[in-house]
Amino acid sequence: MPSQPDSGLAERLASVRADIAAAARAAGRVDADITLIVVTKFQSAELVRDLAALGVSDVGENRHPEARDKKLECDDLALTWHFIGQLQSNKAKAVALYADAVHSVDRASLVDALAAAQRPLDVFIQVNLTDDPNRGGVDPREIEPLAEKVLAQPSLSLRGLMAVAGLDAEPRAEFARVRGYSERLIRVAPDASSLSMGMSHDFADALAEGATHLRIGTAITGKRSLTP
Ligand SMILES: *Cc1c(COP(=O)(O)O)cnc(C)c1O
Repeated sequence: MPSQPDSGLAERLASVRADIAAAARAAGRVDADITLIVVTKFQSAELVRDLAALGVSDVGENRHPEARDKKLECDDLALTWHFIGQLQSNKAKAVALYADAVHSVDRASLVDALAAAQRPLDVFIQVNLTDDPNRGGVDPREIEPLAEKVLAQPSLSLRGLMAVAGLDAEPRAEFARVRGYSERLIRVAPDASSLSMGMSHDFADALAEGATHLRIGTAITGKRSLTP
């Protein structure tokens, strides 16, 4: 017998959806242009099932093989799986065999490794907004050459940019920077206009700056339950 999703989950999801709709309206945006990706890292496959039962269509994971195992357990569900975490090149081909989209593409070797799977994949180029090269993401000056590299791979569809606002930075200003980089990217890749940005605490700012893909975890799932 399928279990009833816990009512806390349903309430938090409804509340975040209402906040997204309100922030979208305030920004003069249309709801239909916004994809809510519920980040389920460190959460059980059961919770993914509960989310699907509540109408969630997109989930985000940040680690292999946790993501693969969960996807296998939920293979009967019509979900779109987004890989949003830093990705080592030696795991990239495996990820490309089950993910529908990878948001963390930040170097040419990763593009080659993802293309090696020869499976259709949506790709976001992650931009590093900090001066710390360990934070993941490409240096903003390298966006165009990396985009050309993705565009040259027939199995990869370049969708746009992804970014995480810096911890000490003002999120709205960070997302405005990404919007500027997006205008540059569109000149070399006119179809790559999507913007994956905005998390639990800053999605309203992201929406105001044009986010099309929100990656929201704890505001919906509550505390992360699996130990890393
Ligand atoms: C965990 C994570 C999120 C979601 O963060 P919350 O604060 O739980 O909403 C979004 N993006 C990335 C890249 C993450 O790793």
